[in-house]
Amino acid sequence: MTVCIKNQIRNMNLVIGCIVGCSYCYARNNARRFHITDGFASPVFFEDKLRLMDRKRPSNYLLTGMSDLAVWKKEWLEKTLEGVRNHPEHQFLFLSKMPEILDIETDLDNAWFGVTVTRRSECGRIDALRRNVKAKHYHVTFEPLFDDPGEVDLSGIDWIVIGTMTGAQSRKIHTDPSWALSLTRQASDLHIPVFWKEDLEPIMGEDAMVQQLPKEFIQVLEEQKKWKRK
Ligand code: SF4
Repeated sequence: MTVCIKNQIRNMNLVIGCIVGCSYCYARNNARRFHITDGFASPVFFEDKLRLMDRKRPSNYLLTGMSDLAVWKKEWLEKTLEGVRNHPEHQFLFLSKMPEILDIETDLDNAWFGVTVTRRSECGRIDALRRNVKAKHYHVTFEPLFDDPGEVDLSGIDWIVIGTMTGAQSRKIHTDPSWALSLTRQASDLHIPVFWKEDLEPIMGEDAMVQQLPKEFIQVLEEQKKWKRK
């Protein structure tokens, strides 16, 4: 059965706002619709939300669901990484589309730094990630995948996610199955787990779905199950 990634990795929107300007940004639409901040182009750090990390039940968290790591102020990241360090029971993911301006070094075992790649011309972001972020774990999200990324250097990457366009624009734009299969083959050759997001199911077929997670995330989910049984 196809699983929804949101059931595996929860959003903790510590920062809301972004200047990248993706046309398909759902976060900008939601922030405007619900008047969450004064302006999406002026990112705001919701420091109080760091207390959510104190929840005892282990979870995998995406911390950049309504922002891009590159727009975070240095002190926001420092405070967040302090929380990450204090909570080894959780795993934390960060994503960016502007890794060329990142400058991060951390020895944290439970921090995962990634880039989004939507087309072949953006594959250089993976090099920039490895160059500008010195961390224990890297991931790449190929979503929404607009063209064939070709042969990609995935060395040192610990997880990839593949997804297609969602929402109204999905009627016109969708990921070609051969692109997803090519990336999956390349990652599998390097023993990198691959996760196809649920939106790929109508394109790829339920039986073909690939939904692998890194062992660290699986461990967290196993712990969650024990909590449910308590
Ligand atoms: S990087 Fe993410 S948060 Fe920023 S505009 Fe693009 S989709 Fe929205």
